[in-house]
Amino acid sequence: IESNLPNVGTTIFTVMSALAAENGAVNLGQGFPDFEGDSRLVDTVADAMKRGLNQYPPMTGVPALREAIAMKIDALYGHRYDSNSEITITAGATQAILTAILATVHPGDEVIVLEPCYDSYVPNIELAGGVVVRVPLTPGSFRPDFNKIATAITPNTRAIIVNSPHNPSGIVWTRTEMLQLQELLDPTDIVVISDEVYEHIVYDGKSHKSAACFAGLAARSFIVSSFGKTYHVTGWKIGYVAAPASLTAEFRKVHQFNVFSVNTPVQHGLAAYMVDPKPYLDLPAFYQRKRDLFRAGLAKTRLRALPSEGTYFQCVDISEVSDLSEADFCKWLTSEIGVAAIPVSAFYGSGFDQRVIRFCFAKRDETLASALSRLAKL
Ligand code: PMP
Ligand code: GLN
Repeated sequence: IESNLPNVGTTIFTVMSALAAENGAVNLGQGFPDFEGDSRLVDTVADAMKRGLNQYPPMTGVPALREAIAMKIDALYGHRYDSNSEITITAGATQAILTAILATVHPGDEVIVLEPCYDSYVPNIELAGGVVVRVPLTPGSFRPDFNKIATAITPNTRAIIVNSPHNPSGIVWTRTEMLQLQELLDPTDIVVISDEVYEHIVYDGKSHKSAACFAGLAARSFIVSSFGKTYHVTGWKIGYVAAPASLTAEFRKVHQFNVFSVNTPVQHGLAAYMVDPKPYLDLPAFYQRKRDLFRAGLAKTRLRALPSEGTYFQCVDISEVSDLSEADFCKWLTSEIGVAAIPVSAFYGSGFDQRVIRFCFAKRDETLASALSRLAKL
């Protein structure tokens, strides 16, 4: 049959995790913690199961969880969403992003992505029949270039996908950059899909600037987040979308035929657990210590660490170590040195190679130490 996604193979995350397993390498490729989350969260979910909360929840999500999310967003970002008409629980951020795109993008509409970008965005746009418009983040710094974004906007631009804290670079957009985005979009009716899955992982005393903080952006944004990143449970595949009622109504038309609803006991467990802000407020310090430990080890190698302002990713420039392409270097690193990483070129449609690879440091200290002892040869 003719493929609906002719340019798509197996994702780089699956490929590198398989290669890591094959070679017995320390897997710092695919982004997931190798440690357990809080057992209290597991207990609240188990309790919900035992209490018989095991049938379909409302299509939009369990009300208590939607309300807890609305309260959190209000407390952190100062924008009050109506939990009934503006918050929807999704099967992770992945489904949220796909659904937001399917709900808003018509065949032939242009959607701007800022490369390097998370690998699901482009195939999602293609599935909707949209035209992908790729705008590079500034090579080297990975900061947004608003002149380039402005040039890419046409009367056919339906949406732009932004992602801060940014995977893979770890860059966090500043307030000024968010204001520039708001100003740029002001005269347009462009929808923003704001992928904020790493919202609680920002370092050095800085804070995440959600699109929800800016009235002009909030009014046009689907704000996407994921509990997987925040509570160390990536395998639970649960997240949410916050968006104005008019956008949410369209989102839900697709959502109901996409998954209809997502798993009930986890929603109840999360609703009870997230009332306490401490776990997500503690997250920056928890990961910053790991980031610094990892960077201190990298400093003893010829891998040059780029800034990691947020997320649990650390990018490094490999050019002093090797002439190989990013992809070949990652394969070599996995098979010969025993550490798996992700080539940043995998986040560019053109495969643009700037000799930068990504490590995930959401790992136990022992795992990081083991990876660093192997990397010490470089
Ligand atoms: N967006 C970004 C930027 C991500 O890094 C991830 C997770 N790797 C996702 C979306 C998907 O999140 P989820 O696992 O909740 O679907
Ligand atoms: N988001 C994770 C990463 O960037 C991977 C998720 C996946 O495997 N699809 O590593």
